[in-house]
Amino acid sequence: MHDVLIIGAGPAGLSAALWCDELGLETLVLEQNEQVGGQLLSIYGPVEDYPGVRANNGREFLERFSESVGEADFDLWTNVEIESVDLKAKRVALRSGEALQSIAIMIATGVRRRQLGISGEREFAGRGIIESANRDRKEFAGKDVCVIGGGDAAAENALLLADVCPTVTLVHRRKTLRARPTFAQKLQGQHCITVFPESVVTRILGNDKVEAVEILRKDALKPFQMAVQGVVIRIGVEPNTELFREQLQLDEQGYALVTSQHETNVANVFAIGDVSNPLAPTISGASGAGATAAKVIASRLSGSR
Ligand SMILES: Cc1cc2nc3c(=O)[nH]c(=O)nc-3n(C[C@H](O)[C@H](O)[C@H](O)COP(=O)(O)OP(=O)(O)OC[C@H]3O[C@@H](n4cnc5c(N)ncnc54)[C@H](O)[C@@H]3O)c2cc1C
Repeated sequence: MHDVLIIGAGPAGLSAALWCDELGLETLVLEQNEQVGGQLLSIYGPVEDYPGVRANNGREFLERFSESVGEADFDLWTNVEIESVDLKAKRVALRSGEALQSIAIMIATGVRRRQLGISGEREFAGRGIIESANRDRKEFAGKDVCVIGGGDAAAENALLLADVCPTVTLVHRRKTLRARPTFAQKLQGQHCITVFPESVVTRILGNDKVEAVEILRKDALKPFQMAVQGVVIRIGVEPNTELFREQLQLDEQGYALVTSQHETNVANVFAIGDVSNPLAPTISGASGAGATAAKVIASRLSGSR
């Protein structure tokens, strides 16, 4: 029995655990991965906009973050597979057979990259599907690449690859890019970047490695193939809320709906960080949400103890 069960050990979950310890709450953090850190593990460029800490990448940032979190006293289980959660009863059942009980639950499960669900996407993971332009651009220098998506992340990846690749083709569904105007302007200034609006990639093709993409442009009757050796997929993210779908009020995209104190529709169940669709999904926002939820729980428990 713990006071608080925190599901997810990204910035939100870890920061919440730190605050729970500070406020004297017995806390257990459950993380599905072997390593904590969440999205920090996939930031290969400098971490920005977290005042007071400069880091060249997410792992470096996580080291600093872990230094202070490591001093706190809470339980952390990694490689955990959650079988089911009863939010009302505050019970969590693990695949391994354990049943956990708490007074409050914090859902800090974050988001994951959305997938296209097309042929070739999974097959060529690590064999031409570029995980991150920041990390992999040396490997793809001199190669023709395709970037799929129209937001900031797609534009940023296209711009990074344009420094080293002879051609970069950006394929996106809408008429205009969703990326911020500064990125859109920079894209226009790059001669090696071609933008295909109102278009979709329907297949990624190759033998051992990516060799081509199949593109369908709006109003075209048939798709056409274009030779590329690398593909970046950045079509947004989706929340990790499947476990709670039947019990939580979610918005139309599946994010948890919360009050200003980060509480969900179930009493003493909080959703913190990116999983609750914050206007600014950032490390500082996730950390602040964890602190707020911990404070609310502590003040309720101090009143009832
Ligand atoms: C490429 C990139 C660059 C970024 N750059 C910046 C930046 O410069 N500055 C900035 O402030 N922010 C940046 N961000 C955003 C920032 O990383 C996120 O806002 C932050 O990580 C959100 O934290 P979180 O804890 O809410 O979620 P996450 O980081 O997504 O962590 C969620 C955790 O929950 C775990 N989890 C999920 N489901 C389960 C389950 N069922 N059981 C147990 N555990 C589960 C996941 O494995 C993960 O560890 C960047 C993000 C990316 C991807």
